[in-house]
Amino acid sequence: MNCCAPTSVNMDDATLELAKALIRRPSITPNDHGCQQLIAARLRALGFHVENLRFGSVDNLWTRRGDSAPLLVFAGHSDVVPPGDSAAWKYDPFTPTIDGGMLYGRGAADMKSSLAAFVTAAEAFVARRPDHPGSVALLITSDEEGPAVDGTVKVIDALRRRNENIDYCVVGEPTSSARTGDTIKNGRRGSLSGRAAVYGVQGHVAYPHLAANPVHQMAPVVQALTATEWDTGNEHFPPTSFQITRLHADSGAVNITPERLEMDFNFRFSSQLTPEQLMARVRSTFDKHHLHYDIDWNASGLPYLTAAGPLLDVVKQAVREELDIDPCVSTDGGTSDGRFIAPTGAQVVEFGPTNETIHKVNECLDARDPHRLSRVYLSIMEKLLF
Ligand SMILES: [Zn+2]
Repeated sequence: MNCCAPTSVNMDDATLELAKALIRRPSITPNDHGCQQLIAARLRALGFHVENLRFGSVDNLWTRRGDSAPLLVFAGHSDVVPPGDSAAWKYDPFTPTIDGGMLYGRGAADMKSSLAAFVTAAEAFVARRPDHPGSVALLITSDEEGPAVDGTVKVIDALRRRNENIDYCVVGEPTSSARTGDTIKNGRRGSLSGRAAVYGVQGHVAYPHLAANPVHQMAPVVQALTATEWDTGNEHFPPTSFQITRLHADSGAVNITPERLEMDFNFRFSSQLTPEQLMARVRSTFDKHHLHYDIDWNASGLPYLTAAGPLLDVVKQAVREELDIDPCVSTDGGTSDGRFIAPTGAQVVEFGPTNETIHKVNECLDARDPHRLSRVYLSIMEKLLF
């Protein structure tokens, strides 16, 4: 918990009020529950062109002001993860509540405060610069916390088809650790999952020479995979990590050896490696131990990186000026929708509030943070579109 939490909060804070209005809408993934309509209504009043792009059961919002380049996009999601056991929360997860200077509610940090800050920053920017050069847009999906197949990736496809090119993209995911502003992300690792099935021969435990126990066969493979150094990372990425998330074999009785074993695993990989290289190395480890197996692969995201450029400089400078913090730049943590936007050639930087309580019971955020985020986003608009 934040030791510097304030005891009083400015109740006239428009960003905080909008964040609360969004939290009140129980937009459990993939249901947007009217969040995008609320955002669209505010932006339409500023002269944004509004498009609702629905793919499958997913609502997406694309809203843009201006026709010329450069195009600066703020990207995020209106969906939230389920609250889990609501009774375990101090306050109802969809009744935004301020206590001890903290804003409580599902989505407070991930990422309705960022969405509110996008909107109020756009309002302030248009009020100051009604004739701004270039374009500013918001890309909001309600399919980030779910399978992410009908969300940002589809909107990006639609934009590409009509040659609408993004120059700069700020993703409002909660990137900060101890204090909002301490961390921005200029890339993310890739994610590759596998589900292996290893086939043995069932038999009586008393006659092991007549059976082939896949648990025993797999033991040295688990040892080898977990001891492997896949890479050492590089200047921008930490080393690739391998984790086993499930290991299962069962015969139904204590005197039978199982005939099949299943193992689920995941790589978070750096830009030093490709999914194909990782797959080949895993297969060669299995082959070396003469296993009979199948592996189903799911490469859900490639690593991306914005190593340098105007956007990274501007975001760092805006955080320094508005929050008086020198942010560290990192690529760790989970994947984000930035993975769908970066391949278009856009510069992508992620900046948002603290992530300590995201996806947890009693998700909360310093109640001053929505306003702080708004100031940083406004500064980014002013520095890139002048
Ligand atoms: Zn998020």
